[in-house]
Order: sequence, then C-alpha cells, then structure tokens
Amino acid sequence: MISDSQHFEISKQKDYLYVIKENISLVHPVYTNDPLNMYLLLGSHTALLLDTGCGLFPIKPIVDELIGERELLVFNTHYHWDHPLGNVEFGEIYIHENEVDKVSKPYDVSFFKDSPNEIVKIYAEQDFLIPPAKTIKALKDGDTFDLGEIQVEIIHCPGHSPGSICLLTSRGELFTSDVAYYGDQFLPVKKKFFEVLKTLSKLIDICEKQKIVELYPSHRRYPCDISLLTDLYKGIENIENLWDTKKVFEFFDAWEIEDPSGKFRYFISR
Ligand SMILES: [Zn+2]
Repeated sequence: MISDSQHFEISKQKDYLYVIKENISLVHPVYTNDPLNMYLLLGSHTALLLDTGCGLFPIKPIVDELIGERELLVFNTHYHWDHPLGNVEFGEIYIHENEVDKVSKPYDVSFFKDSPNEIVKIYAEQDFLIPPAKTIKALKDGDTFDLGEIQVEIIHCPGHSPGSICLLTSRGELFTSDVAYYGDQFLPVKKKFFEVLKTLSKLIDICEKQKIVELYPSHRRYPCDISLLTDLYKGIENIENLWDTKKVFEFFDAWEIEDPSGKFRYFISR
C-alpha cells in the first residue's frame, strides 16, 4: 500500500514510473503551475527520484515504500524553490554543477513571508531557511546512470536557469523539467532568449532523432508530445511581436505577456 499522504497525490504511470504531485499554489497563490510533478523511476536495482518538492511535508517515507530494496538516487532538475526543498530528507542529492552552490546552503524562502496562505507557517517555524542535503554531487551534460534495465542520460538545458537539466531514458521518455511545460513560463531577460531557444531546438533534435514521443514536464499535464517543444519555441520567438502588450508584474520583478494561444503566459525578468 502506498503511504497515506493528504498532501501528495501519487499515481502509477507505468510499471517503472510513478508520479508524485504537489500543489505549489498552496504556498502562494501567485504560483499557478499546479501540480508540480516529481517522478520516480524504478530500475531493477536502483530507483531515481527527480526533485524533492516544496519541503512542506515528508516525502521520503512515500519514496521508501515505493522503491522497496532498491538503491536510491535523488536528482534536482534545477534549484528553483519548488524543486529542492525536500532535499534535507535525503543524505545525498545530485544537481547540475552550475547550481551546486545554490542548494548547498540553507534555502532562503523569506519571499513567502507575506503569503496569504496559512501553510507558510511551516517555513516560518524554520525561520524561512530550509536546510540543504548533507552531500551535494555535481551532474554534467552527458552523464549516464544505470538503474538496471533502464539507463538515463543527463542533458544540460540552460535557459530557464543556468543549471537546468532534462533526463533522457533508454525507454524513450524525456523528462523536460521546467524547460518545457504548458503553463506560466519564467524566462530570463530578453537578451538571453537565444539560450532558451537553443536549448529547445536541442531537445527538438533529440526527440526527432531518437523518435521520443513521451515528454514528462515538471508542471501541469503529462505526458506531452514533441508539439510542447515546438509550441513553446514558436511562442518565445513571437514574444517580440507581443512586446507592446506587456504588463508589469511585481512579485517576480518581471514583465507579463499573455500568449494568444492560451497555452502559455510569459514572465520575463526585467
Ligand atoms: Zn518549477
């Protein structure tokens, strides 16, 4: 039986793939990308957990129950607050080398001090400083891991953040992290869009060459197909044409632009 958790929703996608969902809007209503999807891959001897979530309630007991006797690897897709705050529960985690520093010290979530949501009390009890994992290991582009009958490869995907990674499996899944999903997109300053587009075209190439049909984003709906990547690529390219429609968005110090397709809303760093 799967651990009883009021907070996380757990679903079995495949024999070897579970999805653990957490609603991040519980922390602050400004975050609308519900749910956050954490993925648990089960190889024959090793399991891999992709992200540890918001750190509000224990996630490790759920993971332990699902993995049985397997060894466990824990990866962060990137350092943004909704992905690594459960790290402290695990002795050792991996993140791209560009973001090792970001998750090696207590994570400051004091930007949630004024959240209207009661749940932030859990952060307040820790003085809005969430402790890190004990050991942080670095990932590099091209690193591979054997889980037993499933191999995974790290793809460095800078743009959304400097150390964002995607994960490609030997079974034909691509985990796209926050690099691509349908919903609110958090983008760097406009002059860095070239980097976001370069990453997306790299992923499109991989999908076409390897005939990848299943994309698993870290937010909202899954699985998606390659049109997620092409839709987002076209959308970001088109932002220039929508520039006059931008609004000021205070919470992230960003410009907000609505995509006319309704598939995306962009928050562009100012
Ligand atoms: Zn996220």
